[in-house]
Amino acid sequence: MSESEEMPDSEERWREVLTDEEYEILREAGTEPRFSGDLLDIKDEGVFTCAGCGLELFTSDEKYDSGSGWPSFWDAYDSGNIETRVDTSHGMRRTEAVCARCGGHLGHIFDDGPEPTGKRYCINSASLDFEPES
Ligand code: FE
Repeated sequence: MSESEEMPDSEERWREVLTDEEYEILREAGTEPRFSGDLLDIKDEGVFTCAGCGLELFTSDEKYDSGSGWPSFWDAYDSGNIETRVDTSHGMRRTEAVCARCGGHLGHIFDDGPEPTGKRYCINSASLDFEPES
């Protein structure tokens, strides 16, 4: 979905505009299997946007290979574009990363990332679209 399109105002509408996988992850906080995502190995220059609403979330400059099996970033494009929540599901206490505009679930943030932030944004490929630099 691109930024110019109107944001869905109901779960019914989200189901129409997202693929089944995107819906399960973005709207139901699902997780794609490790090493399955199509953006995991992308090393091209560009911007990663929210697959739900098109908001810029990460750039290729902050992407790194964490070995986790999910696209990983050490910083956000703009910290205001990502909101965090405490996630206590699955018997763990984790920091959930959510799109600040559409509320879509992106993944989780851990404190074992590289310098300078020490953060690891562990993000589902299905939550992102990639826009190569032209
Ligand atoms: Fe979004």
